[in-house]
Amino acid sequence: MTLARSIVLKTAALPPVKHLVRKSFLFRPLVRRFIAGDTLEEALVASEAILSRGLKVSLDILGENTASEKEALVAKATYIKMLERIAEMPLVKKWNAEHGDSPDLNRTGAGIEPINISIKLTQCGLDQGVEFAERNLRDVLETAKKFKNFVRVDMEASEYTERTMEMIGRVFQDYKNTGTVLQTYLYRNDDDVEKVISWQARVRLVKGAYLEPATVAFPEKADVDEAYIRQGKRLLDAGMYPAFATQDESIVKDLTAYAKAKGIDKSKFEFQMLYGIRRDLQEGLAADGYNVRIYVPFGDAWYPYFSRRLAERPANAFFIVKSLFKG
Ligand SMILES: Cc1cc2nc3c(=O)[nH]c(=O)nc-3n(C[C@H](O)[C@H](O)[C@H](O)COP(=O)(O)OP(=O)(O)OC[C@H]3O[C@@H](n4cnc5c(N)ncnc54)[C@H](O)[C@@H]3O)c2cc1C
Repeated sequence: MTLARSIVLKTAALPPVKHLVRKSFLFRPLVRRFIAGDTLEEALVASEAILSRGLKVSLDILGENTASEKEALVAKATYIKMLERIAEMPLVKKWNAEHGDSPDLNRTGAGIEPINISIKLTQCGLDQGVEFAERNLRDVLETAKKFKNFVRVDMEASEYTERTMEMIGRVFQDYKNTGTVLQTYLYRNDDDVEKVISWQARVRLVKGAYLEPATVAFPEKADVDEAYIRQGKRLLDAGMYPAFATQDESIVKDLTAYAKAKGIDKSKFEFQMLYGIRRDLQEGLAADGYNVRIYVPFGDAWYPYFSRRLAERPANAFFIVKSLFKG
């Protein structure tokens, strides 16, 4: 973790900064750049536009760490609603009619869904208990199965990694329409990559977005990038339709060159990028025939997600600091 990134994450967590950024209309345009809207309907409109450009979507309702079982049940109901509304989209209905019965749905690239959802276990109630969160996850997966859709379980801070891996390992035995996210900044990640390969589950590979101590994660960017390429190649070889979620152009180049050299078809993996970031790269890859999926976040609980995006691009955070001092 670079120093600038760590400073931005720590500053953003200070209550007065949080209060100012959340309340001030000055920052709305910057927030809107990264967040598709406050409501599911707004996010669906944004998703339609992305789909019409030949890209895929993963829809994410913002929010993490529920404080009660009641809050987690509300989040679960929203996930289910998202899956229901997605299934009503004309493009999805058409896709389902054409591909929905594919026997290897979601696993080898033969029938990859145009729009799925990403969820967080802390929003399913992980802080309220593993069994409770798992029941909620299973309910969401059952609905997704009915609609022939896929649910990606995001990876959160390292205190949740082991519980997330264990839960995915258990539910994957019953639901093949799920997969998780692995973070290359974690020292443990080579082992986790092997674990998901042994399960034959779909993986999204990311660098990792949380503030982690040097006891669990590489402090240097060069080590994180090196692990990304090593683990990315391993996942390409393993062939379970990996997703490379990065805006790092040099990593994209390395992995596409590797796939080409190994004769791995473009349909066998996808790139994923965040809404509002490197649209040029997103569209360039899609024009070259690669699968590209955009992570589309929506909802009013946007602050933690927004701070992580600022930390990745300190120039955005400096804009906020400058405005605070001016104001
Ligand atoms: C689809 C998707 C899903 C993700 N899911 C998770 C998850 O479940 N768990 C998790 O911990 N992390 C997740 N992340 C975040 C990830 O861990 C990184 O923090 C994030 O992708 C930035 O890293 P990078 O790979 O783009 O490389 P970086 O080295 O951070 O950035 C490479 C280049 O990308 C551009 N860029 C990157 N971020 C920004 C930004 N915020 N604003 C403007 N330009 C930017 C810049 O040009 C930068 O030079 C996800 C990322 C994506 C794309």
